Amino acid sequence: MSDNRIRSVVIVGGGTAGWMSAATLAKILTTNYCSITLIESDEIGIIGVGEATIPQMATFNRMLEIDEDDFVRRTKGTFKLGIQFRNWGREGHTYFHPFGSYGLNMQGVSFHSHWLRLHQLGEAPRLDEWSLPALAGERGKFMRPFDNGNSPLSSIAYAYHFDAGLYARYLREYSESRGVVRQEGKIVDVTLRGEDGFIESVTLQDGRKIEGDLFIDCSGFRGLLIEQALKSGYEDWSHYLPCNRAIAVPCESTEEITPYTRSTAHTAGWQWRIPLQHRIGNGHVFCSDFMSDDEATDILMKNLDGKPLADPRIVPFKTGRRRQTWVKNCVSLGLAAGFLEPLESTSIWLVQSGLSRLMTMFPDRTFQQADIDRYNRIVANEYEIVREFLVLHYNATERDDSEFWNYCRNMEVPERLAEKIRVFQAYGRTFRENDELFNDTSWFAVMIGQLMKARTYDPVADIMPLEETRARLKHIAEAVHNSAEYMPTHKQFILDNCAAPELVQATAARAA
Ligand SMILES: Cc1cc2nc3c(=O)[nH]c(=O)nc-3n(C[C@H](O)[C@H](O)[C@H](O)COP(=O)(O)OP(=O)(O)OC[C@H]3O[C@@H](n4cnc5c(N)ncnc54)[C@H](O)[C@@H]3O)c2cc1C
Repeated sequence: MSDNRIRSVVIVGGGTAGWMSAATLAKILTTNYCSITLIESDEIGIIGVGEATIPQMATFNRMLEIDEDDFVRRTKGTFKLGIQFRNWGREGHTYFHPFGSYGLNMQGVSFHSHWLRLHQLGEAPRLDEWSLPALAGERGKFMRPFDNGNSPLSSIAYAYHFDAGLYARYLREYSESRGVVRQEGKIVDVTLRGEDGFIESVTLQDGRKIEGDLFIDCSGFRGLLIEQALKSGYEDWSHYLPCNRAIAVPCESTEEITPYTRSTAHTAGWQWRIPLQHRIGNGHVFCSDFMSDDEATDILMKNLDGKPLADPRIVPFKTGRRRQTWVKNCVSLGLAAGFLEPLESTSIWLVQSGLSRLMTMFPDRTFQQADIDRYNRIVANEYEIVREFLVLHYNATERDDSEFWNYCRNMEVPERLAEKIRVFQAYGRTFRENDELFNDTSWFAVMIGQLMKARTYDPVADIMPLEETRARLKHIAEAVHNSAEYMPTHKQFILDNCAAPELVQATAARAA
């Protein structure tokens, strides 16, 4: 075994990012390879928001060999088929960004190109008719996919909503049972090695010194190691994404549990609604240049489904990313690495993706700069691509009812996004660049959803005789409808498979 092997990893922070890191290292490397220590401070606590995910999360769970029903039950989670956007394209307009794809590609042409052809003839009004997640979401239905030939029921794409505090606790138990050592305490000092500026140790308030070969900074917005000690620098993206505050408040549940996240645009931002088994998570993301905290709180509190269960909490943030998320022997993940608002629930995925890259480029104590540079370049690109997808939601709108929307509609967007918009406007085409997170279907769903117009449809869609296109789309829509009918309600699915005691009790109480 190499002499330079990493012998100790120190993770700073016990929020979602910290415990996801601990669980991943414990599972893949194991504590036989190196010691894994996680330091967290109960006094500081965790951010405790971050409750909606995307389907890639299921891959993370599978990697950890977590039982999905147990995970959903213990985190009081629910299932998510996509995001419903209200008032984004214009006030009063609603669309759904579903997981998975629409219909079926036919004769090598994307389904949405065939749809656009009929749509422009005035024959195919709603894209949702060809997406099982969209239709099932609308009807409050959910089930996992099962092998059913080429029926849409064979490939239902889904993600989760969960309670962030319970998720951290769940992964803590997982990690500790695999040998991760948790140290409680507040870090008050970071010691850098004289000769090269690498991190040597961190010191806790009670004087304990914890040394490590590799440090993973999951300390949240403060970036205790990556920024305060190693001065990575921060790239500020507020000119593209001007929202800079969130107000979060949980409220009582409604009887039905919707299988999707809802995002409702307001005059200077938007409100999230995330249904869990025991409560609904809500928050208003807004820009303080255009709205006061009081006004934003007022809007949030007036738009809750049930009684608030806590006082509203303000979370200030600055959109952007660290210039380098890996510096010397420190890799930052989660809020320590950067922040993009939760409009498409991407932050937890960015942690997952960072971890998977770290595992493929896991260093030894020589910390090769070529690997570090490559890691930083890939992570920077991932953040930028997500940023561009989010900017699309703000920029492609007809809203002109406030200064905020006027700013967003008229702002200059990153050139790569501007090109995607131009390409869409020509023939309604969308593409997935390299291995970017969002695929052509997602770009199409949001571009159409935000009421963008294509000059004409993809000329290659004419490869199919019009009558055949009509017949095939009709057939697929029927299959999607029948599949949605077949599915149980989301709530019933949870009750049958993964209900937390609170949901069982609340359901019994309602029935009595
Ligand atoms: C308003 C909002 C909504 C969000 N919604 C979503 C969403 O729906 N979906 C999604 O994917 N993501 C979402 N996110 C992002 C998500 O919350 C984070 O990616 C995720 O929670 C990771 O947080 P974290 O672990 O990096 O930081 P934190 O939860 O802040 O954890 C930081 C940890 O560091 C410790 N720490 C800090 N300083 C010290 C010190 N000096 N000594 C010892 N320990 C220390 C703290 O005790 C804590 O344990 C949202 C974020 C915000 C702000």
